[in-house]
Amino acid sequence: MDAKKSDRVSATRSATKSRGETHHPGPSRIELAAFPPKERWDDWVELESRPWPERVERRYVLVPTTCFNCESACGLLAYVDKETLEIRKFEGNPEHPGSRGRNCAKGPATLNQIRDPHRILHPLKRDGARGEGKWRRVSWDEALDDIAARVRKAIVEERRNEVVYHVGRPGEDGYTERVLAAWGIDGHNSHTNICSSNGRAGYHYWMGLDRPSPDFANADVILLISAHLESGHYFNPHAQRILEAKARGAKTIVFDVRLSNTATHADHWLAPHPGTEAAILLAIASHLVRTRRYDREFVRRWWNWQEFLAAECADLPQTFECFEAELARLYAEYTFEHAAAESGVAAQTIEAVAEIVAGAGTRLATHTWRSAAAGNLGGWQVSRTLFLLNALLGAVGTEGGTHPNVANKFVGRPIHVPAHPHVWNDLNWPGEYPLAMNEMSILMPHLLKDGRGRLEVYFTRVYNPVWTNPDGFSWIDALTDESRVGLHVALTPTWSESASFADYVLPMGLRAERHDVHSYETPDAQWIGFRQPVLRAAHERLGHPPAADTRETNPGEVWEENEFWIELSWRIDPDGALGIRKFFESKERPGTKLGLDEYYGFLFSSSVPGLPERAAKEGLTPLAFMRRYGSFEVRRKIAPLHQEEVPASEIEDLRVDALGRAYTKLPKPAGPNVVPLPTPDPDADGRRLVGISVDGTIRRGFPTPSGRLEFYSSTLVRWGWPEYALPTYIKSHVHRDRLEPGQMVLIPTFRLPVQIHTRSANAKWLDEIAHTNPLWIHPTDASRIGVETGSLVRVETEIGHFVVKAWVTEGIRPGVVACSHHMGRWKAEAAPGQSQMMATVALGKQGGRWSMRRLAGVSPHESADPDTRRIWWTDSGVHQNLTFPVHPDPISGMHCWHQAVRVTAAAPGDAYADVSVDVDKAHEVYRRWLEITRPAARVSPDGTRRPYWLLRPLKPGRDVYRLPEAPASR
Ligand code: SF4
Repeated sequence: MDAKKSDRVSATRSATKSRGETHHPGPSRIELAAFPPKERWDDWVELESRPWPERVERRYVLVPTTCFNCESACGLLAYVDKETLEIRKFEGNPEHPGSRGRNCAKGPATLNQIRDPHRILHPLKRDGARGEGKWRRVSWDEALDDIAARVRKAIVEERRNEVVYHVGRPGEDGYTERVLAAWGIDGHNSHTNICSSNGRAGYHYWMGLDRPSPDFANADVILLISAHLESGHYFNPHAQRILEAKARGAKTIVFDVRLSNTATHADHWLAPHPGTEAAILLAIASHLVRTRRYDREFVRRWWNWQEFLAAECADLPQTFECFEAELARLYAEYTFEHAAAESGVAAQTIEAVAEIVAGAGTRLATHTWRSAAAGNLGGWQVSRTLFLLNALLGAVGTEGGTHPNVANKFVGRPIHVPAHPHVWNDLNWPGEYPLAMNEMSILMPHLLKDGRGRLEVYFTRVYNPVWTNPDGFSWIDALTDESRVGLHVALTPTWSESASFADYVLPMGLRAERHDVHSYETPDAQWIGFRQPVLRAAHERLGHPPAADTRETNPGEVWEENEFWIELSWRIDPDGALGIRKFFESKERPGTKLGLDEYYGFLFSSSVPGLPERAAKEGLTPLAFMRRYGSFEVRRKIAPLHQEEVPASEIEDLRVDALGRAYTKLPKPAGPNVVPLPTPDPDADGRRLVGISVDGTIRRGFPTPSGRLEFYSSTLVRWGWPEYALPTYIKSHVHRDRLEPGQMVLIPTFRLPVQIHTRSANAKWLDEIAHTNPLWIHPTDASRIGVETGSLVRVETEIGHFVVKAWVTEGIRPGVVACSHHMGRWKAEAAPGQSQMMATVALGKQGGRWSMRRLAGVSPHESADPDTRRIWWTDSGVHQNLTFPVHPDPISGMHCWHQAVRVTAAAPGDAYADVSVDVDKAHEVYRRWLEITRPAARVSPDGTRRPYWLLRPLKPGRDVYRLPEAPASR
């Protein structure tokens, strides 16, 4: 601001104050502030920008909801014009404890998605062959009746495993899992094995819980194996707290093979060879042990060292001192020199970083989620060895340390809780992967091809396997074969590559058009957020008659899933004879359909501690409070849960075993689920593990089989993987030893900060910023193959190739190339789709070889949105995932994304964005990776399919854990 303007502002403020006014003399009538105060959300006034300098006022009702453009669920405030009832913008919700009023670019871009001129507004049914691109509009009734009849038939004929719901981003804590449980099916399938199965597994073997919650804001040292400042998991809520810590002087260490925007902000940036991260982490751990700068008391009290000694060193004295000596011996080989030789990072750099970590004490916050964990065979050892540093320093559940996620997550209890299904779905949970962290969703086309099942009804929701998963052409083969997939129902607000191969495309609400309740581990607190249909809530706030369902206030016939599932379930079981309908009935008005006001009203009133009292202070019901403010902080500054003393009221007939595990006869107490610790296996008498004895006091401990942090995993030993009993280093499938001469490593996993996997093609502001994914390549590699920035290069994988433009940069290691997966959206010539971010392509198939050639890029065009005439970009990137075969880790089940590739200058005839794939070869690769598994039928120690204590979405009843062929007495 120039001096004159500044003077004018000061003069205006002085004049205002001298008149005794406390507000800014603008239409908002308050001092300039970052956010509209919540007391004014019913009638907020702003000046219109376009008529300026004429001062035209607009009046708004501000309605909170939450963003759905990534997993963070930041708060949004929708500005609803009181005159037109149109949503005019989204800004941050200052009342939201996770995001605190801040958003990334993707939050406000929600407006683009709401107004997308190409969005799907009515239910559609295919009108030709699958994938032919012909559709006709149908009524919701027609679609519901058809789908319900097919689901019902499958259930009645005991073909329950033929109904599968495949979700990308769930958005809601467990709503649909309960729908599936009510139907009595094991039909939940997620995207997690292309995302975080490896990250989760490493944490799970330590804590019995599969996610970390680093307290970045209070840390002294932050160690990230991710790009958290620009695009990491829980990106904006975490990034703002990392920046707070940096402003306080905290040191940040970033492992990233690329010079990402996160790496540029680090105090130490380490760029290891892909897949060698665990070697560096182990060298740091070894340094802590060697120099005895670990927290001895923490290790003695909370690690399962006694179990380790008893199992592996029975001949040694069973003392802690003896364990310490063993620890030093076991990790002595992980020297700085070993790490340097493996990773290519200088030993002095690793040593300097190790010293910083050693000085962190209990204020070490660490995180990895996708990144190195997701890219590599054995990547689960990256999160396991990262957490080893926290476990050594005692930085677990401490201020500035890393908590288990349940400390910072709150899950309320819904009105109906159906029992776990008594069926096991081998398509989602095949026996070769007894330790898989999540469903083996990437294998579905191959399992179907091998005749290991079929699908009668296959729902996809916020999921686009053809584009997102590896080996998308095998998905097209599966989805176009009606003998394998009877009915594909795509629940989606927008067109996608997979929706093109559906039978029904049903328009589901975007984030301002649906209900969800959720809670994520972002700060050291527990909060819940409420996503809601904004216009429905605005009508209510303005005193209009209530809507019968969200279709009345959403555009077109757009619905929300929660109401859709209730309606569909009633049609599956119209008279209640199947025992399904009762889970979708009102308790207030028995025999009628459950409404969402009752559903969420019950949840907020009965299971969220403190919310009823807080709401009452404002004369509101808990539901009205959540509709008005959109979020609630349940607790703050959570003390270490594992240290909590178990109250005497929870213990009866206490039995403590040799490992200190304390069992009680009493069941888990009912009541609010403030600390949702899962319960591991009971003992032989059916007693519940209630805690562990630590120096004579019974404390909560961890939900692992030992009740302690498991440095030593008896589960991995018992289930056939004794070599990985301890946190160790597994050489990746793209380790240099495994590369053939001339091969490089492709990193295909990194996110762009302003795109959202498969959901942002309809966000014009984001598309304008980011619409291409060139191949990062080091100058030495570029000159070796004779390319420069902008040259076309061919990248050959095991099953095919893609053609992309080179971006020559020193921001990547020599020998490694990288390409973001956020690009390469496409639609076939005849298919509908987005026009601002999807190229039009020709698909071809000869035998097992598929090809894709771009016919047209993006171009300006007429639509209801005048901005589509102003599109200036033509690129929409290259779809590389099509050329990747499945690489399931034999333990976690994670698809190991990194690829060994050959990169050459494009061949004559190659064109930008060309893709060519041999699906027969893809099937061979699937079989090769299947051979390295250790199936339950071979290794199960107790005749079950999987260790019961391992987390599992929609966990079935214990009875179906038994392997079918196992004798009952085993
Ligand atoms: S980080 Fe960005 S995209 Fe993710 S929820 Fe927050 S505002 Fe939305």
